[in-house]
Parts: sequence; structure tokens; C-alpha cells
Amino acid sequence: MSTRKEVANIMFPDVKETIEDLLKKYPDRELNPVVSRMGPSPTWFMHIGNFYQAFTSWKYSKQNNGVFFIRIEDTDQKREVEWAIDVILEVLKWFNIILDEWPIGENMQDVGKYWPYVQSKRKYIYNVFAKYLVEKWLAYPCRMTEEELAVIRENQTKAKLIPGIYWNYSVWRNKTPDELMKKIQDESWFFPVLRLRSHWDLHKKINFDDIIKWKINMADNYNDVVLLKKDWLPTYHLAHVADDTLMKTTHVIRWEEWLTSVPLHIQLFEAFGLRIPFYAHIAPLLKLDNWNKRKLSKRYDPEANMKYFFEQWFPTKWLMEYLLTIMDSSFENWRNENIDKELFEFKFTLENMNHAWALFDFIKLNSVCNNYISRISTDELYEKTLERAYKYSPDFAKLMISDVDYTKAAINIERHTPKDPKRFTTFKDVESQIIFFYDSEREKLFVNKPDLPEIFNDDWIGKFISEYASVLDLDMSIEDWFVQLKQIWKKYWFAWNNAEFKEWWYIWKIWDLAMFLRIQLCCASQTPDLFSVMRVMGKERVINRLKYKKN
Ligand code: GLU
Repeated sequence: MSTRKEVANIMFPDVKETIEDLLKKYPDRELNPVVSRMGPSPTWFMHIGNFYQAFTSWKYSKQNNGVFFIRIEDTDQKREVEWAIDVILEVLKWFNIILDEWPIGENMQDVGKYWPYVQSKRKYIYNVFAKYLVEKWLAYPCRMTEEELAVIRENQTKAKLIPGIYWNYSVWRNKTPDELMKKIQDESWFFPVLRLRSHWDLHKKINFDDIIKWKINMADNYNDVVLLKKDWLPTYHLAHVADDTLMKTTHVIRWEEWLTSVPLHIQLFEAFGLRIPFYAHIAPLLKLDNWNKRKLSKRYDPEANMKYFFEQWFPTKWLMEYLLTIMDSSFENWRNENIDKELFEFKFTLENMNHAWALFDFIKLNSVCNNYISRISTDELYEKTLERAYKYSPDFAKLMISDVDYTKAAINIERHTPKDPKRFTTFKDVESQIIFFYDSEREKLFVNKPDLPEIFNDDWIGKFISEYASVLDLDMSIEDWFVQLKQIWKKYWFAWNNAEFKEWWYIWKIWDLAMFLRIQLCCASQTPDLFSVMRVMGKERVINRLKYKKN
């Protein structure tokens, strides 16, 4: 007669070690009270939610002198994309979120004692855990086909029964060791998946604590959930229990979508006789869309993708400040009372996080960043803009460094004055706002400039420019400059205001002339203060631009 152990041995011939052996290999982290991690699946871009989860876990472990590591959860190999990990690491670095342990150090080696930090390289480890379950008869090989599963689902739906693979719905759960041995020894037999042998008490409830959600009471798991898939890689559940045990995670801070799996996870930890970590499930980030709250969508909301913040070169510090206001409602008060403190001095509490949902208000975030950029020095603004330009816009970077003083002067227009229109929300905005200052770019922009009214094609505009050029003096005060300009334009039949236009013999209005100046100088109908623009450009450039005609 075959034993359960023999079944386990024949299923996992390569596994020679036990869970005990593995636990000895990975000693406890005695000095680290909090160990937390992120477990991204490299399947697509980095969602703002992935970042928020990482930021929360990292902040929490760091404010408790703990460890924060990354584990790549790539067991769904069909959905994997190659560049996803690089993007995640790049984004973390950009925010200065330093990982204590990660998989791609020098020579592509793991950094940290609890390696490998990539799940697809931990197959052996999962098999050790799986073997233990088979030995204890807590898991079984299952060869139900898709068709068989579909029939079960259909029958359960028809009979209005609780759906799932449990009790006698599972053809394989009640096979004896002898029956299994016979099947396994048969050359043509294979076991596509490994299932948990769960209790099938459909009405059993379970109580557990969640740091964010507090006391939870929910239905226990009764399903014979798949633990190893066809490719013999684990599902999330087995991987979570094995990895977070061996990597000594104390706090599992993850998205709410996993909350309903906690009963299953507890069941697994208990089956292995292992300590259950603290759980904290983060409520979803929602967006207000026409007064309705909805999840951020990969497809429609650019801000769902971290790449967007990266390419726009959002001020990282302020993105983090904003996320802290979402994370912990006491942050804003703290900030008001501690204006000069570094944001990291604030200690948030997981208990204070929203239980149900949190609003990610993109408009508010933009205004926070806009205010911030309006306050920093022009030198800092220049440096940050240049940093971005080196990465995303090298031609613009060349222009910026070709004349640093000129660039800074262009950036600086109206900043730190009561009239400041706060033109920059991100460091990317600087490029589009000052590009016309550079003569080479201005030629290109001129091709697509807005059309001028017909009147400007006449001879007289040449005369006006010559006359203006002969008296233009950019060292005047803005008031004198304006008076002078007014005197000249009156001669050319431009009315100063509507009243003048109606009562006198003026033919044009001053807005037309102002538009002419804006378009000739800046190739745009909306520009920063014209006198400031002229002063930065200097007399010669201003006159050249005013005279310039598209052939
Ligand atoms: N790979 C899982 C996910 O992307 C990780 C969840 C966790 O943090 O445990 O949802």
C-alpha cells in the first residue's frame, strides 16, 4: 500500500529539503522591527496605484527603521513585458526611494540575503512548500479539464448552489494514495495543477485584524484553490505565503483587492504552522469624473501612468507631499505647523488611512505643483528643467546651455512678482513656454504662427517698425516705454480703447497692434508681459523680429 509521503516524493522528485531547512537558510532579521515590500508584476506600465502602494510601504518601514525590498512577481509569464521592471526601478530612483534589497545589482546579481528576488527563479522553493502540503494531505494533484470545470460551474449555477471547486465537486480530492500512485506512474499521466484540500464548510466565518480596515469578519475559504499552475509555478497565494515567510516580511501592505483572499492566506500559514504577518489593505484611489467617483483608468487618465509624471518631470517632492495628504488626513495640519520641516519627518499611521476609498484629485495636485514651482528660485527651476531636457529633449537642453543667462532671464519673467501668472506646473512646461526665445526655434515656430489681420500686409507697417526702431529704448521704465509706444501707434490710426475708436477717426484698435507685436516676437497670441519679453530679447533681436517677414 502506498503512503502519502510516497505520493509527495514521486510528485516532487527534485525536492530534498524541507521548509525547516529553508527557514534555517534565511535567518531572522532581528534588528528590523518592520519589514515591508512591494511585489510588482511586470505586466505593463507602472500604475499610480503601484507607486502609492510602494510609497506607503516604504515610508512605513523607513519611519520605523525597517527594511523595504522589492520582489518581482513574474509568475504570470504570458503577460510579462520586458521593460516593465526597468521602468519601476527608474521611477523609484527618481523619487529617491532607496531599496534595501532588489534583484538587479552589479553584474545583474541579487542584492540582499533573502534572494532570489524574482519569483520565477524561486520555483524550487515553492515546490518545497507544495510537497509539504501533499505529504500532509492538504493538497492534491488535480487533472480536471476546462470542460469538466465548465460543466461543474453550469450545474452549480442551474441548481443555485454556491459556486466553486469544493467537496465532491472535485473529482481528484478523494483519491487514495494508491490510486494517485498508479495514475502518476502511468507514463501518459500528468498533473496539470495542485489544489489545496480545503474544508468545505460553506458557512464558516473568520475574524481577523487588518491595520487599515480594523476588525474583519468574512466568509472563510472553502475552495480547493489552485496553488501550483500547469507550468508548476505558484499562484499568488502560495507565493505570498512562501516568500513573505522566507523574506521575513512583517507588514504586508497591499491593495484592497487582496482582502478577500486573506482567509485563504491565513489557512495556508496555519497549514504550514507559520507566523501570519500583519496585514494592511489600502483602499482604492478614486478620481472624480463629472461628480462620479471611479477608479483611475489606464486607458483614459494619463495620470494613471507613472510615466506621465516622469515625462512631465513633476516635482517629485510635491507629488509625495500630495500623496501624504491622501494617505493621512493629519498631514495637512502637520504641514501647516511645520512649514520648514522635511516631509520625511512626518510620521503617518496606517490606522489613519482611509478605510473605504481615497480621492486622487489631479487638479489639486497640479495646483500644489504649480504653487511650488512659482516659489523656487530661478536657478533651481533652470537646473530641474535642464535635468529633464537632458533625458527627454536633448535639443532643448543644448539651447538652454548655449546661453544660460538668456535662458534664466526668459524663465524668470514675472516670477516672484504679484503679477506672476504661474506659467509652470511641471518642469516640462518650461520648454513650451520659453522655446520662442531661441532664434533657431523661432524661425520654425513662425511657420505656424497665428494669422495676422489683413491690415498688417500693407506698406505702413514697415514705416511703423522703422519709426519705432529708431526710438526704441529698453532701458526706459515700463511706464515711459508704454507712453512712447502709444504716441507712435496713434499716428498709425490705432485707437487706444473702444471709446476713442468710436468717437475719433481711428481705423484700428490697439489690440490688433499688440497682437502684431506678440506674434512677431513670440509667434503666439498669448505671451508673457511684452515689455519684459523685449527686455530679455534685447533691442537688436526685437527689431529683427519685428521686421521679419515670412517669404
Ligand atoms: N503581485 C501582486 C500585485 O501586483 C502583489 C500584491 C502584494 O503586494 O502582495 O497585486
